[in-house]
Amino acid sequence: MNPATGERVREFSPHTDRAIEERLSRSASTFLQWRGVPVQERAAVVRRVADALDRDKSQLARLMTIEMGKLLGAAEEEVAKCALTCRFYADSAERLLSPEPVPIEGERSYVAYQPLGPVLAVMPWNFPFWQVLRFAAPALAAGNVALLKHASNVPQCALAIEQLFATAGAPPGVFQALLVGSDAVARILADPRVVAATLTGSEGAGSSVASVAGKHIKKTVLELGGSDPFIVMPSADLKIAADTALRARLINSGQSCIAAKRFIVHDAIADEFERRFVGAMKALEVGDPMSPDTRVGPLATEQLVRELDDQVRGTVAAGARVLAGGHRLGPPGWYYAPTVLTDIPADSPAYRDEIFGPVASLFRVADIDEAIALANATRFGLGSSAWTRNAAEIDQFAERLEAGTVFVNGLVASDPRFPFGGIKASGYGRELGAYGLREFTNVKTVRIKLGADRGLTEAAE
Ligand code: NAP
Repeated sequence: MNPATGERVREFSPHTDRAIEERLSRSASTFLQWRGVPVQERAAVVRRVADALDRDKSQLARLMTIEMGKLLGAAEEEVAKCALTCRFYADSAERLLSPEPVPIEGERSYVAYQPLGPVLAVMPWNFPFWQVLRFAAPALAAGNVALLKHASNVPQCALAIEQLFATAGAPPGVFQALLVGSDAVARILADPRVVAATLTGSEGAGSSVASVAGKHIKKTVLELGGSDPFIVMPSADLKIAADTALRARLINSGQSCIAAKRFIVHDAIADEFERRFVGAMKALEVGDPMSPDTRVGPLATEQLVRELDDQVRGTVAAGARVLAGGHRLGPPGWYYAPTVLTDIPADSPAYRDEIFGPVASLFRVADIDEAIALANATRFGLGSSAWTRNAAEIDQFAERLEAGTVFVNGLVASDPRFPFGGIKASGYGRELGAYGLREFTNVKTVRIKLGADRGLTEAAE
């Protein structure tokens, strides 16, 4: 469905049981071969995926925009970031996967990183290429094989990614897309040939997949929701902070796990920040995601617009004030007006839950302790951003914010050089960096005793 128009683009039938079985079987047999392929050759495949991403950038970006409504320029940036990340792992996989010697007298001991097997990746629609590639590039370079169950509204993206790996010379079975609904996930994950799962998505989906994986004792990585705080203190550069606040809230038209959602502003500068931020939100161009002038596109599905509207209404009914927007736009298309809420009561949806769309929650605080307490008063713990030029405050934020990531005077963003992930209900495990590469490996301890009595010497080894 095209979110900009609400029109049907194409229809796909889910894979049959037989088609699923074929893919599971191919996955298991390919793993036995792929794990033995030298890491340099696996890395070369990942590098060729990067080349294909660069070559087909415009076409792949259009596919995303048509399927889930992302602004075309942002879709192109997403493809470019996937290519960058593939190159990062192509360059670093061999080094990061090399056995690490542990010097012990009389032993040749080391820690090795070995692949686990077929990994099921359950992925969301909001970054249809990025979410998949940031898992697949390291996991496949490490010698695993992947089965992708992508979100049901982005089947063309799923198939395009499968094609990218095929074009790059990955043996069939290294990366396969499963066109299945979420009801098929438990059965596939329970299959003994699948050894682990990674899920990016909502808390409900994460909990459901983790419980099946727990029952069958399979490793999982969960990247779930967030309600990131964006804290502004009196010493901050208010213009840069307010401009960045706007960008931070509107990443992917507000549909990002690490979009800033709660703006926590010190009383001393709250009026000025509010004037800048609300004025900018009201001036935004909402519309066609294909147009370069558009700042906010449609939401990905009609259900998301309904849920967002319910959350805003529920928060206002609980006593919040609307400073901008507060209503749906259209039809045609699935649009929501950029919205700012304030005076938000503690048990209302905007305070308690993740808001996935162009809706900002504005809070005022008296000091840094109140700011940090409010920032941490959420069941989520993904990203966080604090704006201050005071050195003591910077250290306090870095130390006390409960989140997988703290940015000071910057926009929260993932980067292949750094681990990415959350705590609390935002999930567990890490993607990206060396941690992401090693998540789906067997971290194996090997201790080989040396000595004349055993006829072994270090040189002989
Ligand atoms: P979602 O509804 O949870 O869907 C994500 C994926 O899980 C889809 O493939 C979906 O399949 C599948 N799924 C849904 N329910 C399932 C179940 N009970 N069992 C197994 N699979 C299930 O999430 P979404 O609305 O697409 O994505 C938005 C959420 O993802 C937000 O909460 C956002 O914060 C989070 N997110 C987190 C990160 C991160 O890195 N932490 C990044 C991006 C997004 P169907 O499409 O077939 O239902």
